[in-house]
Amino acid sequence: MLTLEHVSVTYDGVDALRAVDLSVADGEILSVLGPSGSGKSTMLRAIAGLVPDARGVVRWNGDDLTRVPPHRRGFGLMFQDHTLFPHRDVLANVGFGLRMQRHPRAVVDQRARVALARVGMAGFERRRVAELSGGEQQRVALARALAPEPRLLMLDEPFGALDRERREHLVGELRALFTSLDISVVFVTHDHDEAFALADRLLVMHGGVIVQAGDPIDVWARPSNAFVARFLGWNVTSAFGGPLVAIRPEDLTVSAPGEHGPTGVVVTRTFRRDHHLVTVRLDDRDADELRVAVPVDHPPPDIGDTVGVQIANGRGLRIDP
Ligand code: ADP
Ligand code: MG
Repeated sequence: MLTLEHVSVTYDGVDALRAVDLSVADGEILSVLGPSGSGKSTMLRAIAGLVPDARGVVRWNGDDLTRVPPHRRGFGLMFQDHTLFPHRDVLANVGFGLRMQRHPRAVVDQRARVALARVGMAGFERRRVAELSGGEQQRVALARALAPEPRLLMLDEPFGALDRERREHLVGELRALFTSLDISVVFVTHDHDEAFALADRLLVMHGGVIVQAGDPIDVWARPSNAFVARFLGWNVTSAFGGPLVAIRPEDLTVSAPGEHGPTGVVVTRTFRRDHHLVTVRLDDRDADELRVAVPVDHPPPDIGDTVGVQIANGRGLRIDP
C-alpha cells in the first residue's frame, strides 16, 4: 500500500503541493483529475522520488522511502512525452528498465516479450520505434513501464497525443489489463471521461490540494464544492432564487421568454452528438451564463435569441461557494 503523509512541494516560493495525505490500496486504480497547474504531475514526481526537496513522507507498506532512490522504489512511470529511443527497435526499448536492473540478456528479452504481448504488440519486437504510429508508440511506452513488473504504475496524461476514438479504446483495454495484473495504478489526467472510465476511486485536485476524493459515481453525482461542480461541467448559480446551487446542463431547459425563471441571450450553441449545448448570458445578473443541454429532438434556439431558462429536473444541489 502506498501512503503519503503531509507531502508538500514548493518551487521558488510557489506551493505546488500542499500537505497532501493519501493512500492507494494494493490493486487499486486511482484517477487524479484536475486542471492544468493543479499539482498532479508534482504529486507523481514526489511519489517517484524525483523531487529532491519534497517535504513529508512517502511510504510503501509502512516503510519510509525518503532515502530510497527512484529506480529502487519498484514504481513504473509513463509520461505523455514518453521519450522512447526512436532508432532502436521495440524490444530494445521495452527492455530498457530491465537492463538498468542488470538482468541477464535472455531474461531481459523474455520479460520484454511478455510485456509487449500484454499490450497487444506481440510481433512488433524488431520494428523501429520511428516507424510506429502514435498509438503503437504509446503501447510500447506502456510495455516499457510494465516490463520490470512495478508494484505501482503511475501514468501522467499518457494519451494526450492520441485521437479521441483511439483513446477511448485504449482506456477500456487498460482497465482490463490493470485489473488482471493486480498492480496499484495512479492515473493522472485533465480529461473527465478518461478519469471516470478508468477509476476505482477518483481524486479531484485544485491548487495543490485534494478537494474531493471518493467513488467516481458519488463524485459525479455530488460535487462537494463550486470548483469541482464547475470543473465537471455543472452550472453553479443563484439565478433561480434561493441559495447557490449546482445544476447540470441536462437538468435545465429553454423556452420562449416570459415564463418564470431568468431570461437571457443565447451566445453559443454547439452540437454534442445527443444534444445541443447552449450558453445563455443572463440579462440582469452581471453577465452570468447558464449552460443548457437541449435534446436533439427539440429545435434548438439560435445565437442571438432571447430565451427563458427553467429547471426541468430536480432542484439543483445546494453547494458551498
Ligand atoms: P499539473 O500537472 O496539474 O498541470 P504541475 O504539478 O505540473 O501541475 O504544476 C503545479 C504548479 O507548480 C504549477 O503552478 C506549476 O507552474 C508549478 N511548477 C511545476 N513544475 C515546476 C518547476 N520545475 N519549477 C517551478 N514551478 C513549477
Ligand atoms: Mg502535469
